Amino acid sequence: MKIQESPLKKKITRLIEANGPIHISEFMEICLYNIDHGYYSNSKVIGKKGDFVTSPEISQVFGELIALNFYSNALSSNLKEINLVELGPGNGTLMKDILNTFSKIQTNNIKFNSFLFEKSNQLKKVQKNNLSKYKCNWIDNLENIPNKPTYFIANEFFDALPINQFISNNGYWFERKVEVKNNNFYFVLGKKISDKLDDDPYPNGKIIEQSIYTQSILAKIFKLILKYSGALIVIDYGQINKELNYKNTLQGVKNHHASDIFQSIGLTDLSSWVNFSAFMKNVPNGVIYKGPITQKEFLMNLGIKERFENLGHNKSVIERRRLSNEFERLVSASYMGQAFKVFALQSENLKILEGF
Ligand code: SAH
Repeated sequence: MKIQESPLKKKITRLIEANGPIHISEFMEICLYNIDHGYYSNSKVIGKKGDFVTSPEISQVFGELIALNFYSNALSSNLKEINLVELGPGNGTLMKDILNTFSKIQTNNIKFNSFLFEKSNQLKKVQKNNLSKYKCNWIDNLENIPNKPTYFIANEFFDALPINQFISNNGYWFERKVEVKNNNFYFVLGKKISDKLDDDPYPNGKIIEQSIYTQSILAKIFKLILKYSGALIVIDYGQINKELNYKNTLQGVKNHHASDIFQSIGLTDLSSWVNFSAFMKNVPNGVIYKGPITQKEFLMNLGIKERFENLGHNKSVIERRRLSNEFERLVSASYMGQAFKVFALQSENLKILEGF
C-alpha cells in the first residue's frame, strides 16, 4: 500500500530547498499550526480517542483543587474582581471543572471573569461547545483582558510551544536546524551563537532548548501581574537545565505512543520538556516563584487524597475502584505524579499560593 504523503512534508521540503536549513521552531510551527493540515487543525487530539490524555481529562478533582487554590488566594489577598485566564485549554475540561467548582462553593462577593487563550480554531469550537453553560471569553492576545488582578493557569501548554535547540561543539554553541535530503529530514549544525547559554562547562553534544513563544508570553504575564497583581500556575513535563541533562527533549506522540518527529508530519503531536530555568532567569523584582515540585507533591499538599476519599464515601465497589484508579494516574510516579512538575509565579503583593 502506498502511504499518502503529507502535504506539509512537501511544503517544508520546498521551503528548505529554497532557503536552506530551517529553525526547529519553523518546522514545529508548520507541523502544529498550519491552518489546513497542522496538528491542531484536528479537533480530536486530546482524550482517549486522541493522541494523549491530560490530568483534567482524568478527573474533575484536578480542576477542583486548582479552583480552590485560586479562590482561597483571592479571598486571603482581599481581591474582589479577577481575570482567570487559561492558556491552551484543549477540550475546555479544566476551565469547566474550575467554573463548576466556583458555582458550587458560591464565591460570594468575588467575581471571576474567565478567558481562554487558544490558537486552534478547531479546539475553540470544542471549548465553546463544552463551556456553553458558562460565560467565557476567547482571546488571541493576552493584552486583551481587563486591567484587573489575573490568575493564569497552564496545564500542558508550554510543552506544546515551538522551541529552538542549541548544541555545544568545541566550546561554542551552535543552533540545531532541520535539513532535507532524499525526502528525509535530519538535523544539521547552523550558525555559531555568540551568547553564553549556560554557566556550567559543557562537553560536546549538550543541548539547550529555548522557546521564543514562551519568552514572549512570560514577558506579557510579568508585565500584567506586576501592574495589576496576579499569578501563573504551570503544570508540565519539565525540569531545570541540570536535571534535563542538556539533552534533546523534543518528542513526537501519536495514538498514545512515542513517534518519530520527522514522520507523519501534521499528524504527530510535537512537544518538549519545559525548561523551568528559562522561567526563573528573567523574573523581575516584585515577582516571586515557587517550585518546580512534582505534580504528586502539589496535589497531595492541596488535599487530593482527602477529596478522593470523600468522593468514594458510600459508593459502590466499582465506583470506588474507578476513583482509586484516577487518583493513581494523577499522583503515582509511573503515571503523571513524578514527570509532571508544578511551577508558580506570582506578584509579591498577593498571599503565597498554596501547594508548594
Ligand atoms: N490544557 C489542555 C490541553 C493541552 S494541549 C489540557 O490539559 O487538556 C495544548 C493546548 O495549547 C491546545 O489547546 C493547543 O491548541 C494550545 N496551543 C498550542 N499552541 C498555542 C499557542 N501558540 N497559542 C495558544 N494556544 C496554543
